[in-house]
Amino acid sequence: MSTGSDDALVAPGLGGEASTAQAASSEEPGAGSRPVIDLRQVTKTYGSGDTAVRAVRGVDLLVERGEYVAVMGASGSGKSTLMNVLGCLDVPTTGQYLLDGLDVAEMDEHALALVRNRRIGFVFQAFNLIPRTEALANVEIPMAYAKVPRRERRERAMAALELVGMADRVHHRPNELSGGQQQRVAVARSLVMSPSLVLADEPTGNLDSESTDEVLAVLDQLNGMGRTIVVITHEDHVVRHARRRVEMRDGVIVADEPVGAGVPA
Ligand code: ADP
Ligand code: MG
Repeated sequence: MSTGSDDALVAPGLGGEASTAQAASSEEPGAGSRPVIDLRQVTKTYGSGDTAVRAVRGVDLLVERGEYVAVMGASGSGKSTLMNVLGCLDVPTTGQYLLDGLDVAEMDEHALALVRNRRIGFVFQAFNLIPRTEALANVEIPMAYAKVPRRERRERAMAALELVGMADRVHHRPNELSGGQQQRVAVARSLVMSPSLVLADEPTGNLDSESTDEVLAVLDQLNGMGRTIVVITHEDHVVRHARRRVEMRDGVIVADEPVGAGVPA
């Protein structure tokens, strides 16, 4: 799949307008109007026979560009399994997943790796920054994989760090930063390829309340700029920042409703 391979090199801005520009310059006509996520009767079963675990049992989910969705549910309800599918880290057992209108089932490992690099920005509970490596270099990593030229890498990493309020800490290493600051660096890293989707798995799970607010403020700001965000969480506080709440139980969606700013007046 070569679609989008050059988009990454045209240095789109880091805001939501970038995804429009990216879609407009890509080879897929109308990509910008397609849902970012289109899950159709997706199931995921681990193992087989007597010990099979049906972690996801038939999920339909449409997420349009610019949405801010919180996926919640008790431990074991299938959130991480769903996140792995959404992030193209795992493929559905049955059903279909269209990301930006592209069927992931038709992709080989290489194409999936490209999709993860170009179309999805990951934010993890444990930050997953490279230790002993300064913030700037951490943020450059997705662009290094994508072979973005060095100078442009630096410029885009600086812009992303500025966006998350970390411009004055670009040469700090992870162990010299608070949890909230580390997570903001991780958010900056998730943005540098102008992904269609920012996918965050319990992004505030390791943070104190002050750092949690810092990170949630950054996510609010990104969504305000038009970024599509899906956050997996079990914290009500986090859900209230989203505009739509999807609740899972026993591998299915049991609620899907507007919240916070998304509730119609
Ligand atoms: P959550 O993230 O909501 O806690 P998970 O998606 O991690 O839920 O798990 C859903 C169900 O699938 C659980 O019963 C869990 O034990 C099971 N499960 C998750 N990952 C695996 C795996 N790799 N192999 C077998 N069972 C798994
Ligand atoms: Mg989980």
